[in-house]
Amino acid sequence: AREAFRPLIRLENAFHTAWAAGGAVGPINDLLTLTAPVDEPPVPKAKPQRHDIRIEHLSFRYPQGNLALSDVSLTVAEGQFVALVGPSGAGKSTFVTLLLRCFDANAGAILVGGVDIRQLSLHSLREMIGVVSQEVFLFHGTLAENLRMAKPDACVDELMAAAEAAQLGEFIAGLPLGMDTPIGERGANLSGGQRQRVAIARALLKDAPILILDEATSSLDAASERALRGALARLRKHRTTIAIAHRLETIQDADRILVFDQGKLVEQGNHHQLNAAGGRYAQLIAAQGEEP
Ligand code: ADP
Ligand code: MG
Repeated sequence: AREAFRPLIRLENAFHTAWAAGGAVGPINDLLTLTAPVDEPPVPKAKPQRHDIRIEHLSFRYPQGNLALSDVSLTVAEGQFVALVGPSGAGKSTFVTLLLRCFDANAGAILVGGVDIRQLSLHSLREMIGVVSQEVFLFHGTLAENLRMAKPDACVDELMAAAEAAQLGEFIAGLPLGMDTPIGERGANLSGGQRQRVAIARALLKDAPILILDEATSSLDAASERALRGALARLRKHRTTIAIAHRLETIQDADRILVFDQGKLVEQGNHHQLNAAGGRYAQLIAAQGEEP
């Protein structure tokens, strides 16, 4: 019975591969087009030269789901570091799936560098965006192959430099074949923290102008997270960055913090402004402080 599903499994894997690589991989991109629920423009526009993001009155409801985003408008300037915070289910990850065009919004628009993302090919859109999220796709192959997905022509030194910056150096040194060690199906023999480090190394290799960190370090303990802070800061540098924060202390130095609640943008400002305002953000900080 499993054989009957083979083509589907292949498509699903291709989707995740292209997703993780941001659609930068040649032949896989054709499959992605088949699986994507969104339309490619008949005559795509050229990739924008600027990478500021403008969201205009964005609303989205999942098919047969609740309203996940409701009339959200915001801008992120080129090179800015913006954080999205808010309770679970507030719509933060949905925002990322819309930016990557895994779905199209029901109303409103997303513009990158002044171009509506629906006017770009999926390939060029996803090529501009590096993603580190809770879900890290790993395939059956060596660690080097899994890293190279982000940059097919990367040489070994490049792979190693990215891996070391993502604090994978010690782990690799302990592997029987180093980076040429096969990692299990879906990375079964890697811990959650190691998988997230692989995702960070990939994002460094991909070197895309827009970076999305969706709870990028949620599988790490506080000490490992601190060890990775330098790598993450380096990753953010010179990129337009949207970080969805798990621990609020990790985004205190963001240029701007956007607070989401029930699909709405309810508050924005920097850490000091929001803390002083005593609103939703201050409540979230207080609630986090009470955690054991
Ligand atoms: P957050 O990332 O802030 O925790 P999400 O964007 O994941 O929130 O979710 C926003 C809302 O959309 C929630 O009500 C959630 O249940 C719903 N949702 C998220 N993903 C899906 C999906 N794939 N299908 C249907 N509903 C979804
Ligand atoms: Mg989320």
